Amino acid sequence: MISFDVEIPDGPLPHDHCDGEMTMGLITYFKTTSRCPHCGRDETAWIHSHLGDSGATYQIGDCPGGDIYPLDFDVLLGWTCGSCGLATFAEVVFADGCVRDIQSVELNPETLERLHYIAEDVQSMIETITATRIYDDHGVRPDWLATLRTALEAGRRW
Ligand SMILES: [Zn+2]
Repeated sequence: MISFDVEIPDGPLPHDHCDGEMTMGLITYFKTTSRCPHCGRDETAWIHSHLGDSGATYQIGDCPGGDIYPLDFDVLLGWTCGSCGLATFAEVVFADGCVRDIQSVELNPETLERLHYIAEDVQSMIETITATRIYDDHGVRPDWLATLRTALEAGRRW
């Protein structure tokens, strides 16, 4: 079952959220070199996410320690090409507490099968594929995943 958003537990190190103002809004970046599927240029992909809260940048092989809970998981994120300005999905793979892989991916049924989380950072990209909203007045729609799967199986792509 895939979760929408990144409800991964806080890291095992004690977090002092009482001074939330100081730490809220820090972006974690995953960085790799990737070929943009839109313009074909090799670009540095800066993949922003709300995983972790130390504002760090991680590359393949980095081990975030207490910043990101050491579960094994695949998460779908996104990046924007610095040359053409178009967005692309990225899959970040964690294993044994470290960043195992960072890849640009097409979101298709095979990719969806591997994922554990879809980050809220790519909400608008998902909604473009499904042509529906993920949230309604009650929160995340219970059928969001079925709707996405149906759209992908019908051949819809970002
Ligand atoms: Zn591009």
